Amino acid sequence: MILIDRAYEFARKAHEGQTRHSGEEYFIHVVETAKILAELGMGVTTVVAGLLHDTVEDCEIKLETIEKEFGEEVAFLVDGVTKLGSLRYNGADRHNESLRKLFVAMSEDIRVLMIKLSDRLHNMRTLSHVPNEKQTRIATETLEIYAPIAYRLGIRKLNRELEDLAFPYVYPKEFENLKKAMKESERERLESLEKFINSVKKALAKEGLVKVKTDFRIKGLYSLYKKIQDKKDIEKIYDINAVRILVDTSADCYRVLGVIHGSWKPLPGRIKDYIAFPKPNGYQGIHTTIFTGDGDVVEIQIKTHDMHKFSEYGVASHITYKSGKTGKDEETLGWIKSLLPKTLIKEKHKSFLETTKDVPHWIKELVAYQEHSTDKETFQENLKNDFFSNRIFAFSPKGDVVDLPIDSTPIDFAYSIHSDIGNHMIGAKVGGKLVSLETKLQNGDIVEIMTKQSARPNLKWVDMCKMPMTKRHIRTELSRMSKK
Ligand code: MN
Repeated sequence: MILIDRAYEFARKAHEGQTRHSGEEYFIHVVETAKILAELGMGVTTVVAGLLHDTVEDCEIKLETIEKEFGEEVAFLVDGVTKLGSLRYNGADRHNESLRKLFVAMSEDIRVLMIKLSDRLHNMRTLSHVPNEKQTRIATETLEIYAPIAYRLGIRKLNRELEDLAFPYVYPKEFENLKKAMKESERERLESLEKFINSVKKALAKEGLVKVKTDFRIKGLYSLYKKIQDKKDIEKIYDINAVRILVDTSADCYRVLGVIHGSWKPLPGRIKDYIAFPKPNGYQGIHTTIFTGDGDVVEIQIKTHDMHKFSEYGVASHITYKSGKTGKDEETLGWIKSLLPKTLIKEKHKSFLETTKDVPHWIKELVAYQEHSTDKETFQENLKNDFFSNRIFAFSPKGDVVDLPIDSTPIDFAYSIHSDIGNHMIGAKVGGKLVSLETKLQNGDIVEIMTKQSARPNLKWVDMCKMPMTKRHIRTELSRMSKK
């Protein structure tokens, strides 16, 4: 019997007689978790571990049994999920602890984290059946811990759904108000958006840009809520709806930008080139906001298809099936295939490594590590030498995580949060103590950056930081200052 079928049967028997709050069989939960993993493009080993993820904790099955039946790698993943246990949000200190735990797990094997996130997503989808007093706690954990992690990993799809599922439980009143407000203006917004997209297509076609895909996305309600908290004024939020333009190459992205700015007036200060300067989580694309001409303001996101795929699936888009071309793989995939819409499966067989050139280096290394760890020995070997030994995770005092290459300094940390913070930095504290800006940060350090509005970077900093992105930011600011 193929591995997935065996795991399916094994989990069914192990959870026999157990039910969830909804009255549903417990087994349904592990199948749904496995389905989410398959949809995210995880390989057979991870899907199998997803099916078995609660057997050790809830069914008194021994880990040795899992190892004997399903091999060392599956057992390793199940053990990782079990050990991670529950991550509780109990105020800021515990929050940091939970985040640390998650990142340690991630540095051992990112697939453990993917299982944990999928498990949480299914629990959130079924939260309405859980007793009231538990709902708020679970939803708060989701907002404070799981959703930010999904965001960090660049898996927007998961991040958005987790946030929007948790929002009504954590902020019921705010949720209701916002939902009502959005509903009222929805039709009008969609109609004017459609009109605008048509004129964009025409303008692009006139310049010979015809191989272009356009669509739009509506901001998740929670994400909108957060923005309102920041901006205070819904009128100032320009990306409630954003038009997406997808093309084949980065060069085409800039051509599209040229056409757009030639046809509509852009809002100053809203042009973001995340192709030249990717976000810390690897996100790439060009954003600009323009006046449509009939009183509206719209955000436009220009990306290649690969960048878009990456922005939806992040790290997950790179841990795909090994090759998917041999007959055996096909057979193994049969079970997943029966669960998924056809279009999804096709995507899975493409190797993202071959097709994606604009992937951050560290993610490529991560994939190479995951994809080659198939036999026992290399798996063990890779665990010791995995690429995470070259990355560190540092924390802001509030518990935000910043991942950096090894040997990074507080300057890298500051610029990774925001170039404004870097540009106005006057000093740094690590673990509450003042340190020099050249200090090499360690895994788990809590770094506090002190800033002053009048402070400016200095040429010496270029040699005191590690990341090319930081050096670039410093040089950009220095040349801007000299032109003044
Ligand atoms: Mn579970």
